[in-house]
Amino acid sequence: MNAQELVQKHKLLECIQCGMCTGSCPVSRKANLNIRRYMREVVVTGRLIVHSQNELWSCTTCSTCSIRCPKDLNPFEFLIDIRSLAVEEGQIAPTLRDALESVFKNGDPWGRIRSQRSMWAQDLTIKLFSQGAEVLYFVGCTPAYDPRVQEIAKSLVKCLNKAGVDFGTLGNEENCCGSEVYGMGEKGLFEFLVEENMKIFNKYNVKRVVTTCPHSYHTFKNRYGQTSFEIQHHAQLLANLIEKGKLTFSKKVNKKVIYHDPCFLGKQNGVYDEPRKVIEGVPGVTLLEFDRSRERSLCCEGGGGRMWIDIPGERLAEIRVRDAVESGAEILATACPFCLLTLEDAVKTTGFEGKVQVLDIAELLSSAL
Ligand code: SF4
Ligand code: SF4
Repeated sequence: MNAQELVQKHKLLECIQCGMCTGSCPVSRKANLNIRRYMREVVVTGRLIVHSQNELWSCTTCSTCSIRCPKDLNPFEFLIDIRSLAVEEGQIAPTLRDALESVFKNGDPWGRIRSQRSMWAQDLTIKLFSQGAEVLYFVGCTPAYDPRVQEIAKSLVKCLNKAGVDFGTLGNEENCCGSEVYGMGEKGLFEFLVEENMKIFNKYNVKRVVTTCPHSYHTFKNRYGQTSFEIQHHAQLLANLIEKGKLTFSKKVNKKVIYHDPCFLGKQNGVYDEPRKVIEGVPGVTLLEFDRSRERSLCCEGGGGRMWIDIPGERLAEIRVRDAVESGAEILATACPFCLLTLEDAVKTTGFEGKVQVLDIAELLSSAL
């Protein structure tokens, strides 16, 4: 793609230079990322310039810039295209390259082998979707392999079983959804994953999918260009099960819980109410809100490939944890594997261990069953 094509594709000539995108960008100061200036440079010089690695890879693809843009432009999508150029030219940090290579080789970005993908479920009785089920539970790479995040998958399974949902997984046949691959700009690999995954979904005639990860949810919903299956994030399915009275509780959780909106669930897809319904559905819980919540929520820095590259400076997740503690919350709840990991890490680096506990909404819910 040349500069002119990029200008047209992203309607850069419509930009009125208001600076709302840069002003709202959570990493602009930390990483010196000025997305407005970046776009302007391409228009004025007619050249594609790849800036410093920090600037280029700092974007979390949180989409705040798009939400704030009065001209309905998508600055971060422009940046993803610039990343594609950098990837093509081999200008990519080794940690990101390793993650992409692992997706190609193993079907996950964590360097883990495919035959161990379903080991998280070895002590559970979960059928394969191919044995016949209504709902496909698409587990995702991080819930499948990360020992902490596996707890989200196990909790969701407990909730689904309790509610009598007929579900199955793809077992070791499951593949990376490609969300982070897309965010890193490796569009060729992303297209390959779309084809491979759609082959599997079509082979088993999948009509309903639930994911534990807002990144998979967003990708299947908005980037696959498919209409053959309905996709839900577990917050939506669980809220629906509570509303229909399919989940009964045996315990109370008498705790103050504050909810952190994951960008890929909230800002990117407008799913704000369902996670809150799940939290409020847990007996005994008091739901608190951050000053910056819903559309104004602060990104945790886990998206856009940022799980594989560290950008020096104060972490936004640390700010989030401090705000949670100040609010008096005992539990910081979220609904995303990346948010869970970045926030839990931030609890340790801020020294708030024992003061606030980070949980996924599925874990919170299952603890009361
Ligand atoms: S997506 Fe988020 S991090 Fe990336 S440029 Fe936009 S506001 Fe900044
Ligand atoms: S917010 Fe939109 S119109 Fe304003 S500078 Fe950014 S891209 Fe241009």
